[in-house]
Amino acid sequence: MDSEKRRDTIDWTEYFMAMAFLAAKRSKDPSTQVGACIVNEDKRVVGIGYNGFPTGCSDDEFPWSKTSPDPLETKYLYVCHAEVNAILNKNSTDVKNCTMYVALFPCNECAKIIIQSAIREVVYMSDKHALKDHTIAAKRMLDAAGVKYTQYKPRHSRIVIDFTEIDWDSLNQLPATPRKDDVTRNGHNGGC
Ligand SMILES: [Zn+2]
Repeated sequence: MDSEKRRDTIDWTEYFMAMAFLAAKRSKDPSTQVGACIVNEDKRVVGIGYNGFPTGCSDDEFPWSKTSPDPLETKYLYVCHAEVNAILNKNSTDVKNCTMYVALFPCNECAKIIIQSAIREVVYMSDKHALKDHTIAAKRMLDAAGVKYTQYKPRHSRIVIDFTEIDWDSLNQLPATPRKDDVTRNGHNGGC
């Protein structure tokens, strides 16, 4: 068995951002899937959420469309954003001084709630609505409140969980790290 630790692991930022994206996979929204993950100062996850309708409001009965002559038939009046769900789902007393990892820059409504819940930092991936009023207003409020926000630049271009790739006997989820002293045994590369 190799005694040296693995060095090509994902780092904390990648780990939490990946959790946000994993949560987004739960979203039923056909156009935009957003996830958010809240982490405290001890690097413990205290809340996760994704965009969706409130509890009891069926995904099959409420509208997912973005446009309709009748505003009551669009999603906007009903959907809870990932950031709000993550805050409301918290398993701690509060989210004071926490960092939120989120796929998309928060809108103005979420920014208000982020500020009021005393989250100290937002790490986001996409800023595709940067020129829209709701993002400009969000940044204005976050700046005024001293909430830091930084764009996440992925270190790995892919983080893949492929269940077919896992060696279930050794729980070796490779591809194996190439090593100088690598030996082939039992038909696979011998990293643990
Ligand atoms: Zn929002």
